[in-house]
This record gives sequence, C-alpha cells and structure tokens, in this order.
Amino acid sequence: MLDRLEREINYLRISVTDRCNLRCRYCMPPEGIFLKEHRDILSFEEIEKIVRIGAELGIRKIRLTGGEPLIRRNLPDLVYKISRIEGIDDVAITTNGILFPALAAPLKEAGLNRVNISLDTLQKDRYHYITRGGDITAAFKALETALAEGMEPVKVNTVLIKGFNDDEILDFCRLAFDQPLHIRFIEFMPVGEVKYWHRESMVRNSDVLSTVSKHYVLKPGKISRGNGPAKYFVLEGGKGSIGFISPMSNHFCSECNRLRLTADGKLRACLYGGKEQDLKEALRNNQPTEEIKRIFTETLLSKPERHAMGEKPWGTRDRKMFQIGG
Ligand code: SAM
Ligand code: SF4
Repeated sequence: MLDRLEREINYLRISVTDRCNLRCRYCMPPEGIFLKEHRDILSFEEIEKIVRIGAELGIRKIRLTGGEPLIRRNLPDLVYKISRIEGIDDVAITTNGILFPALAAPLKEAGLNRVNISLDTLQKDRYHYITRGGDITAAFKALETALAEGMEPVKVNTVLIKGFNDDEILDFCRLAFDQPLHIRFIEFMPVGEVKYWHRESMVRNSDVLSTVSKHYVLKPGKISRGNGPAKYFVLEGGKGSIGFISPMSNHFCSECNRLRLTADGKLRACLYGGKEQDLKEALRNNQPTEEIKRIFTETLLSKPERHAMGEKPWGTRDRKMFQIGG
C-alpha cells in the first residue's frame, strides 16, 4: 500500500485494550479511565478479520499494544490467530512487562517473535513514583524472562523526562553494555496526560547522544528486526545497543510506514491527529470485504505529511495515547 506521498505502509499497530495495570503519570489519570463496555471493544475474531484483510492489502507487521495488552484475557489466542495469517511475517508486543513472565512461554508458542518492554527508570522508588505504585522487580523479571525465552531483539522503551530520569542515561547504557538489550530513548511527547508534559521537560536526543559519546565508543548499527524509526548505535565492546526515537526534535514522518487500530475499532493514519474511520461498525453491519478495503485505502490517503506535535496543542476531544495504542 502506498500513500499519497508514496510511503509504503505495511505495519499495523493494534491497541487491544485501553485499560492498564499501571498508571504512569504522563500517560494515564490516577483514577484510570472510563471503562468501555466489553462489546465496544473489538473481539479477537474481528481483529483477526481486519488483519486478514489488511494483509491482503500489504500489511506485513503487527504490533499489539494498548493500554496494557497483556491484561487482555487469552492474548496468546490472538497472537496465534494473527501470526498464522498469510502475509503476516512479524508479530510483536509493547508491554510494561508486569504480566510478561507468566505469559512469555504461551505467547512465544503462539507465534510472538519479539517484545518491547517499557522501563523509564532503573530505580525502585522512581519506578514506584512514575507508574503510581508499580514494582520494579516485576519489570526486571520481564527483561530477564524475555532474554531467557530467546526473544530477539528485546527492546526497552525509555522515555526521558528532564529532572526525573535524565541522570540515568549512563545507567541505561551500562545495562545495554552488559546485556543483549536494545535501549531506546524516546523523546517525551505531548500526548496522554498533557498536563504533565512541558516543553522544558523534553530531553533532546541529540543531547543524550553527546552525553553517551563521552563515555562510550558508538558505532551506527542495525538490529536484527524492527528497526523502525529508531536510529541505533552499538556500544563498542558491549552486548546490546542504544537507539534514539526522536519524534519531537527530528520527526521521522517521511519514513512512517504505519496505520493504527484503536481498541474500539477505529482505523487511524497517525498517532497525532488525522481522520478516524470506523471498522468495527462496518464489520458489525456485515459490510463486504471490499468496503473494509475501501476504509483502509481512504484512511491511508488521509495520512498527513507530518505530525504537528509540539506545534499545536493535543486536542482535548482527541484520544489519549493509551486509547490509540502507544
Ligand atoms: N502499556 C504498554 C507499555 O507501557 O509499554 C503499551 C502502551 S504504552 C502507551 C506504549 C509506550 O508509549 C510506552 O513505552 C510509553 O512509555 C510510551 N508513552 C506513553 N506516553 C508517552 C509520551 N507522552 N511520550 C512518549 N512516550 C510515551
Ligand atoms: Fe499503562 Fe503503558 Fe500508559 Fe504506563 S505507559 S500507564 S504502562 S499504558
């Protein structure tokens, strides 16, 4: 599938739930969210159908996210269904990792290739603070389990926030040096709980790179799979790598290859803004495959050239990051 700017779109990120077992301060309000009724959320059969039609159009990669995808009951069943669809050659998950140790084996057996685990700090008290109550030992256990299960690559998502964890950049590098982990520093974006976001709290990845370069010899590199928008560097002599995802300082929209499906069945062309089209209603009204394909194409054609994050405020009527799928 090519969009108006001839970007090849082959990646669908699916939010399987907008609920979460943590309450990261920059992402969710403390009280959580208004819970949708079960019937408002796409069923596994509906997701499977959408992926099958997407695959006919050229979707090759799927990422399951949320909210916290692992709290969706029987998630391995969904992984099993979609990883067997012809044309789909990569199924991955983004998770906070809390439930990962218990689910890693069935997920892998079902066809999960790889996992991204979010971890913003390596300090127990800070983790407890930023997640509003999370236990860092569970997150560490998730990393350990992913490595032990032979998932490849194991990526770590780290959002840097000035004054909170920007003094841990070298600690994260040390982790990537000692373990075959790929730490990705993600610039803090004005999405989600925007009252927590301030322009000044964003750490530019160019600054992170110059800090790291003073302590490590870095070589530009690629990882085995799913390089996406991150720019990776191997730490000379080490086991893992570090990567930079810089949506704020250096938007990568010209390389964007993705569409997004919300938990309640809306197809979106961009995290930040853009039109949403209702696939759930189309499916429930028994629309033919051709109509689903038309919705895919129309969404694709509405894909903006670039996001306006940091230029225009996150609309209050718009959805939060966890609703769209981070
Ligand atoms: N619950 C899962 C997790 O935390 O990995 C999946 C959903 S979460 C929304 C996906 C990723 O988005 C996490 O790595 C999270 O840190 C990141 N994220 C959430 N809000 C963000 C923001 N305002 N700026 C940058 N990244 C953000
Ligand atoms: Fe939950 Fe992930 Fe948002 Fe944290 S970042 S509150 S783990 S959805």
